[in-house]
Amino acid sequence: MDEKRDYTDIRGVCYISKEPKYEYIQLPSHQECLDDKEKYIYLFDDFYDNNDPISANGLCQPVDSRYLIQNPPCDYLDEKEMDANSNLPFTRELHPYYAKMGKVKCLETIKFSIMTHHGCWGECNFCAIGVHQGRTIRTRTEGNILEEAKEFNKYKDYKGIISDVGGPTANMYGYECGKKLKKGTCDDIRCVDAERLCKVMHVDHGRNINLLRKVREVEGVRKAFVASGVRYDLITADKKHGYSYLKEMVQHHISGQMKVAPEHTQQHVLELMGKPGKETLVDFKKMYDRLNKEEGKNQFLTYYLIAAHPGCEEKDMHELKRFTTDELKMNPEQAQVFTPTPGTYSAVMYYTEMDPKTRKKIFVEKDTKRKEKQKKIVVEKDCFKTGFAS
Ligand code: SF4
Repeated sequence: MDEKRDYTDIRGVCYISKEPKYEYIQLPSHQECLDDKEKYIYLFDDFYDNNDPISANGLCQPVDSRYLIQNPPCDYLDEKEMDANSNLPFTRELHPYYAKMGKVKCLETIKFSIMTHHGCWGECNFCAIGVHQGRTIRTRTEGNILEEAKEFNKYKDYKGIISDVGGPTANMYGYECGKKLKKGTCDDIRCVDAERLCKVMHVDHGRNINLLRKVREVEGVRKAFVASGVRYDLITADKKHGYSYLKEMVQHHISGQMKVAPEHTQQHVLELMGKPGKETLVDFKKMYDRLNKEEGKNQFLTYYLIAAHPGCEEKDMHELKRFTTDELKMNPEQAQVFTPTPGTYSAVMYYTEMDPKTRKKIFVEKDTKRKEKQKKIVVEKDCFKTGFAS
């Protein structure tokens, strides 16, 4: 831009223009979206479906007297480029600007962690990772990951503990849908949703298992955790390697508890969230408990849950509480009140109070106190006794 070169054909760039770009998809104008919430859903559908570099079109939206133009996204990095990116001379230190202000505690949890891949095709509706990293997994090579683990030995404060070997979803490493790699993501169906996993996606934890075994053998490694989120529905879906993967995790890669994110158990809420049904969670828990017993370990599952997601009412939280008490035999401690994240379908639901698929009206809790009440219903030990249930 300093050199006054034309930037308007660079992929991944958005810019304001006085002229529309007719060859791009014409979105409803900013004003139309303000006047009509359904138009905003149309706009979001186009934004969401034009996010894959292989298949995306550019987008053009009138805003007052000008146009917002969004070029198709940048091409994905291939394995070599992913490796080259990771080989850049990262310092693993705080930026000097922050270092002057003292310690930043959270650096300790990420300083010696390894990112194995980019992207996520889980499409949880409240999460923006699929939009900003893409829905196609791009993987680093094993050799490059092992080099990084070896390099940790150079640091004086490295104690042989790798805090995480993972990515947006740890167990999406090392496999992808062949159709997606050639033609881009599908617009009409999802790779995985509340009811099913696409038949074309062959979930295979084999490469991930090999990677974890090799990481454990790297000189200086005493323990390598997998702290990133794991999709339990992919473990139960992988008939060939799912059990072995979970066994590796139970034996070597969790620290007393494994974190899973069912987020809810009520089917209509799960559908709005884009999460798998509770039956899968029950199957997974059985597998996890059996493995821990076989291995002579006393490890637990920790569940992430969301209160006040669009579509969720207090009665749904009571049902969730009943399920965690009766079926999971635990009292949840980790529940968060839903936050609408930009770039997500859940934020669209929150704003429009509609199900974006059916355009039907849905209940959305917007009162801060009542949102907190939803959370308390599920985390408070004695909520029924204290009358919270009423
Ligand atoms: S074919 Fe199935 S797995 Fe592949 S991109 Fe489409 S929905 Fe996803």
